[in-house]
Amino acid sequence: MESSLVKDNPLLLPLNQDKTVYDGFITVQERDFRMRILLPPDRQLARARLHCCWQLKHLLRGYEHIVKQEVGLKSRPDCRSIPPPQYYSQLISEMETLGWAKLLSIDTEFQTLRLKAEDSSGRQHVLTVKLKSKHPAEAPECSADLPIPLVITWTPQSTLDQLHSQFLLLLESLTEFWDVLDEIDSKTWILEPEKPSRSDTTRRIAIGNNVSIKVQVDPRHPKMLPECCLLGAEHVVTPLRNKLNANMQLWNPDSSVLHNLRDVLEIEFPSPATHEKSSFSVECGICYSYRLEAAIPDQVCNDPRCGQPFHQACLYEWLRALPSSRQSFSIVFGECPYCSKVRVHLALTDRRQ
Ligand SMILES: [Zn+2]
Ligand SMILES: [Zn+2]
Repeated sequence: MESSLVKDNPLLLPLNQDKTVYDGFITVQERDFRMRILLPPDRQLARARLHCCWQLKHLLRGYEHIVKQEVGLKSRPDCRSIPPPQYYSQLISEMETLGWAKLLSIDTEFQTLRLKAEDSSGRQHVLTVKLKSKHPAEAPECSADLPIPLVITWTPQSTLDQLHSQFLLLLESLTEFWDVLDEIDSKTWILEPEKPSRSDTTRRIAIGNNVSIKVQVDPRHPKMLPECCLLGAEHVVTPLRNKLNANMQLWNPDSSVLHNLRDVLEIEFPSPATHEKSSFSVECGICYSYRLEAAIPDQVCNDPRCGQPFHQACLYEWLRALPSSRQSFSIVFGECPYCSKVRVHLALTDRRQ
């Protein structure tokens, strides 16, 4: 060991009698760099630690395999933890129990796995598992597209198969929630989010031209009356809000959210079967676009003859620039850029959307 280190790097010398500390210079690209090597008491090269200056670290980046050959060390200069050999045999035996068909992908370091899972309604889900080098002694990091936190129970005896079973149980507890949202997504026009994911709990459903309802479904109690917010011009929204308040007690938790919303609001939602989506996506009257970053136009002129929609951000900038605008508490009043005669107002507290 000593011979190879000193033979290949004549400027590297032992500093103590036990020969566990080497210091000196190694030559890289015809330049000499200071390097210190600390060996464990048994002088095993595999567990040696290297210290060098940042210039050398920079030069060696990407050439770790050559450093290993040149200096004869098995650990990388940045001392990254590489799992012991039994990690890989453990991983293979756990995957054999779980079934290889459930593995969607694995990274080149064999530490991040994507496992597939199907719930009883046939929906496909993905569980991403990041194994620690000390697996299974240390719990892996798990993530998935869920509306609730992914809580996993892990002991040093746990396996990937048990982890997968816990995930399936969690998915089953959410099937009613996804049934409720899948029905809304397939039978109505969703304005927001643009492409709902399995973790999204809100839907903004089109009711008519510039009128929509935003509902937030509770993943734990998906059939209860959700939080509702009606958006649109006052003369359209006020009668709907009155119906919602008057009929609230008719809400039937055995029925789906969409059915209940129809009954309580006494309306039929426009659906892909009856309407084109373009009839609900009218662009902003100030910037002439529909999507502004993630926002869609949700402020509407309250004059029934006008009803022009605007983005909150656009309307705020417009009203702020008008000398005739005034602010009362958190509401800004001003003239509509379209019909000029009547006033539009903007509640500043809503501007975060
Ligand atoms: Zn705009
Ligand atoms: Zn107007």
